[in-house]
Amino acid sequence: MEQITVTSPLLPDLEEFNALLKEIWDSKWITNNGRFHKQLEKELASYLKVPYISLFTNGTLPLITALQALRVTGEVITTPYSFVATTHSLWWNGIKPVFVDVDPSTCNLDPSKIEAAITPKTTAIMPVHCYGKPCDTKAIQEVADKYGLKVIYDAAHAFGVEVDGESILNAGDMSTLSFHATKVYNTIEGGAMVMHDEQTKKRIDYLKNFGFANETTVVAPGINSKMDEVRAAYGLLNLRQVDAAIEARRKVARIYREELRDVPGITFFEDMPGVRHNYSYFPIFVDAEKYGRTRDQLYFDMKSVDVLGRRYFYPLISDFSTYRGLPSATRENLPVAYRLADTVLCLPMHHALTDREIERIIGCIKKP
Ligand SMILES: *Cc1c(COP(=O)(O)O)cnc(C)c1O
Repeated sequence: MEQITVTSPLLPDLEEFNALLKEIWDSKWITNNGRFHKQLEKELASYLKVPYISLFTNGTLPLITALQALRVTGEVITTPYSFVATTHSLWWNGIKPVFVDVDPSTCNLDPSKIEAAITPKTTAIMPVHCYGKPCDTKAIQEVADKYGLKVIYDAAHAFGVEVDGESILNAGDMSTLSFHATKVYNTIEGGAMVMHDEQTKKRIDYLKNFGFANETTVVAPGINSKMDEVRAAYGLLNLRQVDAAIEARRKVARIYREELRDVPGITFFEDMPGVRHNYSYFPIFVDAEKYGRTRDQLYFDMKSVDVLGRRYFYPLISDFSTYRGLPSATRENLPVAYRLADTVLCLPMHHALTDREIERIIGCIKKP
């Protein structure tokens, strides 16, 4: 039987893409703030309901750049339950990560535990909207305001997510997105930063272009992270079909929930009231005692019949060699995150899953 992968990239129509490539070839303008780059920024700002956005070559460099733009130093409070790039962005800035435990009902940074982790060296909080589930942005902002901290959201999973009609990307000082092939919306490799004002947008645009403010002025040691015209054109085409892709994912989530609701020992998240979800991932949590198999047994059983889940996020970032020596990286400090990491399995989730494939996946989980 054919392999079922955990994700599958949303691809533009090849002929339409070719037509745009022809335009790029004819113009001979292939990168450096070209026509498609400008158009994609404009269309994304409108689609995402954000005032300003700056495109990047991936989702990691905007995190690194946001920290520099806000002059974040010392210690930053962050979540261990994420993709490793979140914490790597701190490492690349010489900042010490301080891990705080997550809330089991969302997998996101637990706002009630932040305050106890603040020291005189703390300058910012870096939360993640894990699986696209919105963080408690209000509670996080309250702590940040009380202690004068910046807030940078790693919103790599949160493309198009809205709470009560407002974009989640407008929370905090800045938010970053990833447009990697595995995400809901992709430009093959790509990413972006969302900011609130024109001045900041200008500064970020300098920083992603070596710090050049004009032909002869370099204002800071910027990096090179400019999105090229080919990826911007690809992104414009994908933007037209991303709503249909999210709708297709919603249907997959609905079937998973219907079919798995009565399986003992398997739990999952429901939609949150007032939230426009993007169904970027479908994590289930395995209670080995009630279910009869451990998460790893289920994962390998599925793999043996070519159904690929992903143990996202396992191991925790705090368990990787770079970070496990940190005082905050212990199991005692992060009991919830460790429990989630030990029991989570992300099921295959993408726009092109067929009913037949979904049946096969559910069959694996229901198998006694
Ligand atoms: C994908 C991802 C990133 C990194 O994005 P890239 O585009 O792969 O550099 C950062 N944080 C989280 C939470 C991610 O899932």
